[in-house]
Amino acid sequence: MEEIIEKIASGEIKFHRISDFTEGDKTKAVEIRRKAIEKITGIDLSAIKPKTGTGIKKNEITENMIGYCELPLGIAGPIEVSGEFARGNFIIPCSTTEKGLIASLNRGCSAIKESSNRGVSVFIERDGITRAPVFEVQGGIKESRKFIDWVAKNFQKIKEQADRGSNYCRMQSIKPFTIGNKIFLRCEFTTGDAMGMNMVTFGCEKAGKFICRNTGAKLTALSGNVCADKKPAWINSILGRGATVLANAVILRKIVKTKLKTTPEKIVEVNWNKNFLGAALAGLSGFNAHAANSASAIFIATGQDLAHTVEASSAITFAEITDKGNLYISVKMPSLLVGTVGGGAEFETQKKCLEILGVAGTGNPPGTNRKKFAEIVAAVVLAGELSLLGAIANNDLAKAHLKARRNEL
Ligand code: NAP
Repeated sequence: MEEIIEKIASGEIKFHRISDFTEGDKTKAVEIRRKAIEKITGIDLSAIKPKTGTGIKKNEITENMIGYCELPLGIAGPIEVSGEFARGNFIIPCSTTEKGLIASLNRGCSAIKESSNRGVSVFIERDGITRAPVFEVQGGIKESRKFIDWVAKNFQKIKEQADRGSNYCRMQSIKPFTIGNKIFLRCEFTTGDAMGMNMVTFGCEKAGKFICRNTGAKLTALSGNVCADKKPAWINSILGRGATVLANAVILRKIVKTKLKTTPEKIVEVNWNKNFLGAALAGLSGFNAHAANSASAIFIATGQDLAHTVEASSAITFAEITDKGNLYISVKMPSLLVGTVGGGAEFETQKKCLEILGVAGTGNPPGTNRKKFAEIVAAVVLAGELSLLGAIANNDLAKAHLKARRNEL
């Protein structure tokens, strides 16, 4: 082993080639990689765990693996949800390094629970994940127009190609966006219980080859950013991407007073000033208090692709006073990308967290677990918005974080 470590340190053997010398033994490869890093950097890696309590799982191996990154895992809730797919009380696994976040979510959940026996009402307005390949035609906009007409006329044939490789990935629509001789086809798919980005990429590749064969166009990029994946984008806010979820709740005036130590009027005022005026001045593409904060804690715990926190941050939160003087609060999440199968959802710990939520694996029928999960996430985001708006209205934000920092929560 010493000889291999020396060769790695000298650059003769690359990190990703180590398993060639361990006869495929991945655990051994992790050990060698760690020792080589220690030798190269002089840093003791014992604080980085080489494996979980139950060892290294085959489907948890990443490239150039040296161990696992540990994060604290807590629970928030229960939160009562009244959705089409999620009904009842849910305990929410959350993983975060931000002290005070789970306490804040709890406060929101508790205010919701004490105000109504329906909790947060939620529903999915639209659903579908997108990928947008870019094509180039010979000529100019006339040829682009012909290409678009051909795509529209041949949608069924293109769909047959795109759907071929999967039991769950199904093309729903193609929306063209043109600049000169370049055409971006924003293709939308349903993907069962998976978040679906790999599946739609494979589907678009098959569809793209078929389109090129039949039109003479050139596929210049399989992903052309009109998708738009892992970037803040108005197109996702307007057209929706993943699940577009609506959530709302009514919080009784007396509960706003006892739990959040403020009034509905102050919360409405803070929401207007912060989430709309401040957001407009700053040019934000999300009109919310901290939707990404709540979503990311659930995403980490349940093995979601964390980069999709970007899409979750485009939520719109608004609040107003009801006829009876209570607080009405609503969240729209135009682009919520989650999955209960595939990717990190298959990891042992993360799968357990999905089990706690009652959404692990394939739903019956397929797709219902993912939609149930999306509804729960939107409800928790609403609880987080409520709690933070309350803390700001009550001038409690800095105080609460200071307490959390001193471990007084
Ligand atoms: P995936 O794990 O690549 O694919 C899902 C797999 O689960 C498929 O093989 C599918 O079967 C199978 N499956 C079993 N039961 C299913 C059910 N009920 N519903 C749906 N599928 C079911 O997952 P993915 O969601 O497509 O991709 C997620 C991964 O993509 C993450 O790791 C993420 O980080 C990564 N990602 C990729 C890109 C990209 O551009 N490629 C972009 C962003 C993120 P079939 O074989 O029948 O389809």
